[in-house]
Amino acid sequence: MSSQNPPQERRVVTEIPGPRSRALQERRAAAVAPGVSSVLPVYVTDAGGGVIVDADGNSLIDFGSGIAVTNVGNANPRVAERVKAQVDRFTHTCFMVAPYESYVEVCEALNRLTPGDHEKRSILVNSGAEALENAVKIARYATGRDAVVVFDHGYHGRTLLTMTLTSKNMPYKQGFGPYAPEVYRMPMAYPFRWPGGREDCGPQAAAQAIDQITKQIGAANVAALVIEPIQGEGGFIDPAPGFLPALAAFCRDNGIVFVADEVQTGFARTGDLFACEHEGVVPDIVATAKGIAGGLPLAAVTGRAELMDRIHAGGLGGTYGGNPVACQAALAVLEEIENEKLADRARAIGDIMLPRLRALAERHPAIGDVRGRGAMLAIELVEPGTTVPDAALTAEIARRCHAAGLLVLTCGTYGNVLRFLPPLVIPEHLLKEGLDVLEEAFAAG
Ligand SMILES: *Cc1c(COP(=O)(O)O)cnc(C)c1O
Repeated sequence: MSSQNPPQERRVVTEIPGPRSRALQERRAAAVAPGVSSVLPVYVTDAGGGVIVDADGNSLIDFGSGIAVTNVGNANPRVAERVKAQVDRFTHTCFMVAPYESYVEVCEALNRLTPGDHEKRSILVNSGAEALENAVKIARYATGRDAVVVFDHGYHGRTLLTMTLTSKNMPYKQGFGPYAPEVYRMPMAYPFRWPGGREDCGPQAAAQAIDQITKQIGAANVAALVIEPIQGEGGFIDPAPGFLPALAAFCRDNGIVFVADEVQTGFARTGDLFACEHEGVVPDIVATAKGIAGGLPLAAVTGRAELMDRIHAGGLGGTYGGNPVACQAALAVLEEIENEKLADRARAIGDIMLPRLRALAERHPAIGDVRGRGAMLAIELVEPGTTVPDAALTAEIARRCHAAGLLVLTCGTYGNVLRFLPPLVIPEHLLKEGLDVLEEAFAAG
């Protein structure tokens, strides 16, 4: 995409991590709290297109995009240009003190681009967790109700409320309680693990969730239902067809605010601009972050005007929310998605990857499930012929990929999912080479 990108090649010149990265890792151990950990401690010097270059001169193929953030690449020229120009003009005024146009422009774009043609308003914040926090605040205010419904395997962040909304104990919650009140967890339509089988998973899971909400909470007490249209950290669980539309209809009938957490799925990642579009679901509120601004810290809450307009002046905000540099980056990302047709590009990535992952699963019965959409794909590893998770093999395959110069991430409630999130601008030859490396990692076992 650009001459500034590092050479678009896989190059392994030392052990990974190499000596320079290992020395930095030692320094880090004395300075950085160990609670913040890294998937692969190679210290980055350059990145762009489809590669990450480390301090030892290794060039790794990137199948992670910094967790679905750098959809437009790490060194996108449009992002760099707008950011540089903004940094030269001003870096901060605080939108709550003295506003600027780019914040308004980002909100206009989100209102236009998120699902549904109803009137919308947006606010800008700093992180996915902060977006979810605000979505719940708004839903509670607007409905006058307390309860929040979330789902098994869901991930929504690390703040007190969003950690509570999150399903998995280790590492996100262990020791960090007590948790926030009035959060209720329902079963997820997880096709691979649904006791009644894939075919009936969507309607059965929806019926079960609705039955539990009705019996255990009472629909009239529920402020918001918060769900990821494809679950991220929980294992790239693509809910069975019919599940999301049934929940959305239930929310509509009962005055419950349907909040789509599109933090990981948003901005063309799944082949649609937003993953909800796949089944035509129109959320009342959409929370976005990760892919919004090419890695600059920005997040948003976009919702129905009649909900958003309820909140009193000063009830929402934050010092850095909608920072002008981050807003310029977001405007560049949105231009790039449109001009480079990145949603189509995500579909093309899926069209290349899915057949190869399915063929790999044919050869290796440890791959129990292949799933996802667009450039958000995963394989789930189990003991062959069962659904018993194999986290050890998952870690070993990831280790082999890393050693060979392919950065892959794992996820899942059971730690047994390899997930693939290449930048949408990754050159095709690197995408294919990354798949070669993955295949070799399985063959080596
Ligand atoms: C990453 C993530 C969050 C939290 O975002 P942060 O920016 O890390 O606070 C929330 N929801 C989903 C689905 C995510 O993937």
